[in-house]
Amino acid sequence: MVVSRIKILESSEIQKIAAGEVVERPVNVLKELIENSLDAKATSITIYLEDAGKKLIRIIDNGSGMSHEDAKLCFEHHATSKINTFNDLNRITTFGFRGEALSSIAAVSKVNLITKQELEQLGIELDIEQNKIEKENFINCNVGTELIIKDLFFNVPARKKFLKSKETEYRAITHLFYAFCFSYINVNFKLYSDNRLVYNCPAVQRLEKRFGQLYDHNIIQNIIELNLDNSKEYNPSYKISGAISNSKYSRYDRSQIYLFVNNRWVKNYKLVQAFIRGYQAILEPSKFPIGVVNIFIDKQEIDINIHPKKEEVQFLHPKLIENVITGSIIKSLENNFNKSLNYNAYSAKDMSAINISENIKQEVVDSQHFKEDKVISIPTYDQTIKIFTDNIRLEHNQELNSNEKNSVKNIDHKDAHDLDDYLNGGINNTDNRTKNNITEYRLIGQALKTYIIIEINDGLTLIDQHAAHERIIYQRISSNFTNVPTISLVLPEVIELISEDILMLNLNADIFIQCGIIIEQISANSIVIKQVPIFLKNILLKDIILKSIATIKENHKLEKDKLNNIIKEKIHAQISCKSAIKAGDILQPGTINQIIQDLYNVENKLTCPHGRPTIYNLTVYDIEKFFKRNYRQKIDNLFL
Ligand code: ADP
Ligand code: MG
Repeated sequence: MVVSRIKILESSEIQKIAAGEVVERPVNVLKELIENSLDAKATSITIYLEDAGKKLIRIIDNGSGMSHEDAKLCFEHHATSKINTFNDLNRITTFGFRGEALSSIAAVSKVNLITKQELEQLGIELDIEQNKIEKENFINCNVGTELIIKDLFFNVPARKKFLKSKETEYRAITHLFYAFCFSYINVNFKLYSDNRLVYNCPAVQRLEKRFGQLYDHNIIQNIIELNLDNSKEYNPSYKISGAISNSKYSRYDRSQIYLFVNNRWVKNYKLVQAFIRGYQAILEPSKFPIGVVNIFIDKQEIDINIHPKKEEVQFLHPKLIENVITGSIIKSLENNFNKSLNYNAYSAKDMSAINISENIKQEVVDSQHFKEDKVISIPTYDQTIKIFTDNIRLEHNQELNSNEKNSVKNIDHKDAHDLDDYLNGGINNTDNRTKNNITEYRLIGQALKTYIIIEINDGLTLIDQHAAHERIIYQRISSNFTNVPTISLVLPEVIELISEDILMLNLNADIFIQCGIIIEQISANSIVIKQVPIFLKNILLKDIILKSIATIKENHKLEKDKLNNIIKEKIHAQISCKSAIKAGDILQPGTINQIIQDLYNVENKLTCPHGRPTIYNLTVYDIEKFFKRNYRQKIDNLFL
């Protein structure tokens, strides 16, 4: 057997191995570079990405810059200007101090550095490959530093192969970018991706303003300041500040909650949960708030893992911090609610006796426009059209070839097909279901504006009117969605989204097209919806888009086909839910009978698309058992 002999590794190989500790993917590189710029006191940081950083990361700052000697030294291993001895670690205030980042990055990519200090005439430009200076020039440039990192892992194919997809890398980078924007509001951050300016965030005085720069402009009215809840065990070893969304804003994922401990971004599931708990009384479980929490805490109380790649933090008293976060959020939401009450000229004194959380809950219910005493029936096609006429023009698609099975059908209101026909399978020619009429029932009526009660042979049946109608619509649109009638929107709604969401939409545009939804990107941060299935009410589009994005994010690891199906199902379920009659709608007997007939004719009739039951059967047996009728009969028999 041949035994390999021990040999000393080449220094370039050692550095490649060491690089793996710091640099695993583009986002790690960018984090190190931004931290260096902030350590150099930059107030303007501009980032350019190509292929989400896999091809190129370029960062330009207006910080202190480096002297010519330092520029040549900074790629050496353990080159740092931030500490001299181990003891200096105790008073460290900068992000970096290990002197590892630049040397690691340069070991696995091609680097170009331009830098100049204030008092220097000329700056210096260096080309570095495998940590060696290949070219060196004096150059006329601004004070500050520019670094270009090209072809990450060009010399480590094994690692390059394991880089994640562009969208995953881009998502990670935008999260990082948001985090820096939130923790350094005095810095002007800009982000370009593939030559497109995605975010321009000039310095601001107040954290709330950052939300306007990073989300949509109108969001600020829904962002409130986070106040420390010091009603309980106020402990001077920590301080909390931040800004959070109020009850009127929400997302369908929890990705936009940013937590900072002593100005460092940390990822901590428990703290995020504590944040979300603050909204328990006002947001339904599928909706999530957004916000920023800054925790300033005595160093003795925490252990921040100082490993460059890790963003974890351990608290000495974790439960205490979690409670403080939840409490502060509840307090801030209440304060905000009280303010809005004063605003509405209610007397604060009158309200003080009332449980505030209840009031917030009420506000949410009110905002959902719970329909009172409104008699409705399933809209006919003409009625549906009317809903749209204010802002929608129907276009007849001349090129429409109705024989083409996979085309999305675009109908004119003069067209003979109507929504009822469609829902009843009129358009669906391939549908050979045999009708399974239930005639053997007696309609008792509608109860609690929510349930249909019928009497059938062996008992009573309660039908949840919303769940049932949802199931009916869902089955019909999902069985032949390729023929769904669509309409073009004359005044397409502009929807502002964060850029990672837009990337998700673009990558999955085909799925939306198949569902009859045509989306067009109009700027780095906004899209318009140009065409939708006829069942969709205009106002709900943003909601549907956001829910779909959340679904894509949850399932992005699946194969494309599976992902397509899941998203389609979700979109169908949402369309069904939005267009179905609601609990609280008073129904007329004709409508009720239609729902009953339809429900008994669809597959999966026992649950709505979200899995809630549609039917509750109370058999004669159940009823008799409850009234102890069998028992009674037996007793009667005894006496006969
Ligand atoms: P560390 O940050 O741990 O000191 P790095 O490898 O990240 O190590 O950087 C090495 C040194 O290069 C820093 O200590 C600093 O002196 C210098 N440097 C890096 N980036 C910049 C920058 N953008 N502006 C000024 N100096 C920089
Ligand atoms: Mg550093």
